[in-house]
Amino acid sequence: MNPFSVQHIKHTQDITGLSTEDGAKYIAGGTNLIDLMKLQVETPSQLINLSQWEDEQSITEESDHFRIGAMVTNTTLANYAYQKPSLSLLSQALLSGATVQLRNRATTGGNLLQRTRCYYFYDTTKACNKRQPGSGCAALTSMNRIHAILGTSEDCIATHPSDMAVAMMALNARVVLNGHSDGIREIPLRDFYCEPGSTPHVENVLKDDEVISAVIIPKQCNGTQYYRKVRDRSSYAFALVSVAAGLVLKNDTIEKLTLAFGGVGTKPWYPASAIKLLVGTEFSDEVLDLAIDAELADAKVYGSNNFKPDLLRNTFKSVLNSLYEHQRENEDYEGALHEN
Ligand code: SF4
Repeated sequence: MNPFSVQHIKHTQDITGLSTEDGAKYIAGGTNLIDLMKLQVETPSQLINLSQWEDEQSITEESDHFRIGAMVTNTTLANYAYQKPSLSLLSQALLSGATVQLRNRATTGGNLLQRTRCYYFYDTTKACNKRQPGSGCAALTSMNRIHAILGTSEDCIATHPSDMAVAMMALNARVVLNGHSDGIREIPLRDFYCEPGSTPHVENVLKDDEVISAVIIPKQCNGTQYYRKVRDRSSYAFALVSVAAGLVLKNDTIEKLTLAFGGVGTKPWYPASAIKLLVGTEFSDEVLDLAIDAELADAKVYGSNNFKPDLLRNTFKSVLNSLYEHQRENEDYEGALHEN
């Protein structure tokens, strides 16, 4: 392992006055970066430790939003979201994401910035444009069962691994970024991640001098919510496909739909085409097929992941039908209460 120095951040003003080396990396829970350092995928000369950043360790509730500090652990956030019906998706996603030991260490900011689990990214003997720009992509012609079908390029087909980010995407989250040059700025999570294109090593719009300081989730009625994750084994594993959804119906018309997909995109996937087609439409099996057809129009498969379009279609329809039935049952129950 290469030698490195460590600098500790306790307060937000410490970040403003920070002098960073070229090879510096921020570290919070360390649940991903330490693995990458052991494998020599990352060899930072300086670590800036954010785990004791006192100003960003809590969750606050305002009249129209929740503000989650970047150093809030996944355990704290899952427990908090579990008690808030409008954040139900988030709790379900976090609880499906990792063991309790990992959730106790992993932070909100770190979870959003975790790296892909592409096998070849972690194997320094293999070609990988994300790890070493210009070296090629071993996944394109090798085992690519876990890889993406949406937002891919000829240079990279890796998926983003976070469950939490998929739920936050569905819940219209915004990220708060804090840096020397631009001060504090807030952007929608949907605009935070980059598709790989010809620069797969550039994964998001974070500037060199910026860190994530918080996530804002607006308070809104998202109806009943489900996060369903399909994986290769029943214990913890990364998603082959996941669907985060919340549905509000008026009679049989879809009045509001919150939706995001995991395991299929090179970034947590916001299915704009499917949502556009569904909102304002009468709920039916046929319209669900049309919506997923629209979303999959540009999908590409690479051999071992040829099953993913069908798996996404089936998971999406199953989740939406479950939400629909749940709402109908609630309406029947409330109707019966009125009659009595
Ligand atoms: Fe590297 Fe991306 Fe190819 Fe995986 S898919 S080997 S991360 S370039």
